[in-house]
Amino acid sequence: MNAGTLSRGDWAALRLPIAGSRVVVARGDEVEDLDPTTQEVVARLRTSIPADVAEAVGRAEAAFKTTSWRSDGRLRSQVLWRFAERLRTNVEPLAELLTREQGKTIGEARSEISGSADMVEYYAGLARSLYGRSAVLGEHVHGVVVREPVGVVAVITPWNWPLTLLMRSLAPALAAGNTCVVKPASLTPAITVRALDLLAEDGTLPDGVVTCVLGPGSVVGDALVGAPGVEMIAFTGESGTGTAVMQRAALGTRKVALELGGKSPNIVFADANLEKALDGAMNAIFTTSGQICTAGSRLLLESSIYESFVARLVERVATLQMGDPLLATTTLAPLVSADQRRTVEDYIALGRKEGTVLTGGEPPSEEYLARGYFVPATVIVDLPLTSAVVREEIFGPVLTVHPFAAEGEAVALAEDTDFGLAAGIWTSDLDRAWRVGRAVRSGTVWINTYHHFYPEAEVGGFRRSGLGRQQGIEGLLEFTETKHLNFDAKPTLW
Ligand code: NAD
Repeated sequence: MNAGTLSRGDWAALRLPIAGSRVVVARGDEVEDLDPTTQEVVARLRTSIPADVAEAVGRAEAAFKTTSWRSDGRLRSQVLWRFAERLRTNVEPLAELLTREQGKTIGEARSEISGSADMVEYYAGLARSLYGRSAVLGEHVHGVVVREPVGVVAVITPWNWPLTLLMRSLAPALAAGNTCVVKPASLTPAITVRALDLLAEDGTLPDGVVTCVLGPGSVVGDALVGAPGVEMIAFTGESGTGTAVMQRAALGTRKVALELGGKSPNIVFADANLEKALDGAMNAIFTTSGQICTAGSRLLLESSIYESFVARLVERVATLQMGDPLLATTTLAPLVSADQRRTVEDYIALGRKEGTVLTGGEPPSEEYLARGYFVPATVIVDLPLTSAVVREEIFGPVLTVHPFAAEGEAVALAEDTDFGLAAGIWTSDLDRAWRVGRAVRSGTVWINTYHHFYPEAEVGGFRRSGLGRQQGIEGLLEFTETKHLNFDAKPTLW
């Protein structure tokens, strides 16, 4: 993979929907999509009006009912394989667009595109392996339990990992034979549409299997969740929005899969390999500048290593390079928007009041950097456990650090949260790793590592972090309904 730096140069803003796009249904106002580093226009696009949402859902319903998509696993597999190939051959242009639109570092953007292709490949394979069960239910009676697609699925995505999180729902939904209407976050429409157009390039993809509507969640997302033809909503986003989506979906008895927020503990025991734990702590919180649902935002340190670990952490933080995310040397990218920066800065101000800020706080001075939504990496100690900085998801490069005296206290601190998305444990003691790993109620527990995801392995949340699982086999089954076909050779009817 090319790990080089890209030149900013001239950027010809994309105009979306691109003429001939088979996926976008949007006849509303034209809006500008801005680069969070430079405020350049990345794309101009139209938003969707409610009638567009109805049209997209209607096309998806028609494709579900009238084409072979839901019954032809081989076709679905081939379409997904070819889509993954096109993603792989377009890693560079897609990564550049992603960095310009979302602001993440170019290295992370490249791995997001390749990881998305990997996800699609995994479900391309599973599209031909959607097995049911059979059972002998009596002397003359057999039951066959099959998995069938749910119908039209609305896929609603956030802006932080826009392609990964799209593919994590879209690929299994399509593999299972559903048809989908995608609604990306308002901050990341361009990368979404570009990728979906690559999917739609496939001449064998029936019309209407995938469409896309664009615009604010409160209008377009809400209309999609409430559209009568939608049978399931696969939502990834903030916990409060997820609750609202679930309430709205309940009115139509629609199935929901919710991937929501987190406030994940990262626990370091004194017996850990501390060098690796230090790398892990940095990666856990500063990936995507902290704008990642699984961010290890609460660092729990065994008391005997607390002082020295915090001192080394602060040294490491000082080496982070804030700057243009298109440069290979940049390790801390800007936040996605002015609103997001304001929210994070408010939490830092509260942290200053309620605790001690050890590093961070000064914005970059260069005029060029001042145009981007940068927030320096920030470490806060001595906070009361009741502080909103400790309890709420910040979604920025802000780490709180807390000491613990013994294993039991570490587990209690880790569990003192409304969320349950992820956790990290650093220790050389295997028994302890299992004990603590089982005690912490999180969808993912990383042991001596952090932020590694695999299409084969399920992710999801306990408590307010979500409902259902994505990725892996369970991630495919989420997008199915179970049907029992019953055969009785000598029926005794009631
Ligand atoms: P958000 O909840 O504001 O928006 C997510 C999506 O929902 C967007 O497309 C938005 O337009 C849409 N939306 C907003 N209101 C809606 C409504 N009333 N009806 C229907 N759709 C609506 O989240 P965000 O700011 O885009 O993303 C950040 C959040 O996402 C964080 O809380 C983060 O933890 C969470 N997240 C979770 C995961 C996970 O896997 N659990 C992954 C990434 C992000």
